[in-house]
Amino acid sequence: MNVKGMYRLVIVGGGTAGWMAAAALRRSFSALPYTVTLIESDEIGTVGVGEATIPPMIQFNDMLGLDENAFLKAVNGTFKLGIRFKDWSAPGSDYFHPFGVYGVDMGGLNFNHYWMRYQKAGGSADFGLFNPQTLAARANRFGRMKEINPNVPAVNYAFHFDASLYARYLRDVCVQRGVVRKEGRITEVQQDPDNGDVTAVVLASGERIEGDLFIDCSGFRGLLIEQTLKSGYEDWSKWLPCNRAVAVPCDKVDPLTPYTTSTAREAGWQWRIPLQHRTGNGYVFCDSYLSEETASDLLMQRLDGQAQAEPRVIRFQTGHRKQMWNHNVIAMGLASGFLEPLESTSIWLVQEAIATLQLYFPRGGITDTARACFNRAMLDAYTNVKDFLIAHYKVTTREDTPFWSYCKHMDIPDSLQFRLDSFRENNQPLVRPQDLFKEASWFAVLAGQGLMPQSYHPGADVMPDDEFRWRIQKVREGTTGLVNMMPGHEAYIAKTCASPH
Ligand code: FAD
Repeated sequence: MNVKGMYRLVIVGGGTAGWMAAAALRRSFSALPYTVTLIESDEIGTVGVGEATIPPMIQFNDMLGLDENAFLKAVNGTFKLGIRFKDWSAPGSDYFHPFGVYGVDMGGLNFNHYWMRYQKAGGSADFGLFNPQTLAARANRFGRMKEINPNVPAVNYAFHFDASLYARYLRDVCVQRGVVRKEGRITEVQQDPDNGDVTAVVLASGERIEGDLFIDCSGFRGLLIEQTLKSGYEDWSKWLPCNRAVAVPCDKVDPLTPYTTSTAREAGWQWRIPLQHRTGNGYVFCDSYLSEETASDLLMQRLDGQAQAEPRVIRFQTGHRKQMWNHNVIAMGLASGFLEPLESTSIWLVQEAIATLQLYFPRGGITDTARACFNRAMLDAYTNVKDFLIAHYKVTTREDTPFWSYCKHMDIPDSLQFRLDSFRENNQPLVRPQDLFKEASWFAVLAGQGLMPQSYHPGADVMPDDEFRWRIQKVREGTTGLVNMMPGHEAYIAKTCASPH
């Protein structure tokens, strides 16, 4: 803290993570005596990918007081109801991981158990029939139900957007709200010779920026957390072996799908993310099985529109910093770790880091306890996401390439083995309240990949057959009815949030 009692927060990096942190911390502590300065380098730029999100992003934007339609216009955004997984369990397979649950809870039990009873009695094997997001995605429909009919249940959604436009949008919001932006390349990081804390960063221009707490959002390089403080990196690539992505935008093609598509490929998978003005594409792969050149060629051959640029390769290592808060430096975004974009969780992990910091914000100075709590909470968040991602690779029948053979036979963490065993036996994947992915997500992915539980909760058999059949029918009709109320995705965007660009 400086002599005037002002707490100085310095954010290093102006990618999605940096601007999200700046906007949220400025907003939540605006009444306290502290300053927020963000430093970014136009010369270095941002990673420029990260276009798909998950529903908690809505709460983040709400917390910032952003108007959703204005935000979508600014970022060429579209709506996302979930992820379509093609060829994951076997070539030709196709399933959907929707946001939100299947059916409705009946008698305090998750609907998945009732669905199993229904199916064992000869009902349809298509559990997507009980999930409005899945049905709407199949029909390319979307609408916010509170606008269409406030008396029916809400439909969960998230967004696809242009990542560089989102950072720019947040930058404008931040600057209006008093965040100080400095442009320039940091060439030196200064530390207190006694305790090793970071005291200041120095730009190529010679300008020196002092701080009390530094948020390292400098991307994969981890300028403060790793290059300066040597916090160490926990490598998870034996479980999540992909370590490269090649990305390229292409012209938009119809229809404008309200979902991300993930297609399994010979040495990884390919994403397809529809935006208002273009489609984002990428091939995430492991370079032990495929060269960067071949991956780029294959991606270019597999686009469904005209490429708008040359493919760009991004290198990464899955895992996380051993200490995400070290000394007076807190890493967020790519500086803190990376789990690959299979379930669009990176931006959520930034959100989680911000929320955790808000909980332990060092009002009277940093304490070991606050640091330990933050590190524990973030490790837990990373570990949970990691297990869910690994399940996609492990639970497969594919052995048609060396990559898939490795994934199918790899050892997995005990925590995931436990979940898989418990799901297989009794349809209970061991979900805790703080976990990001709930029962419905585990069910969608594990069952979608071909792992069906052997049994279900006995409570689902209690309801008499007649009542059970009637209620199942009602749930099915309700789901279809909800989706029929929605307009087409593109028509809804044209009406509510079409971008002028
Ligand atoms: P960056 O965007 O790399 O920003 C780093 C910042 O630090 C820049 O402003 C840079 O100028 C600055 N900087 C660095 N060094 C210096 C220096 N010396 N001096 C001054 N400034 C400096 N996330 C999702 O949620 N959904 C997705 O679908 C998704 N897809 C992804 C696909 C891929 C292939 C990858 C790699 C990531 C994906 N992500 C996704 C993650 C997402 O892109 C990132 O989490 C997000 O963009 C945050 O990046 P960042 O701000 O941490 O880093």
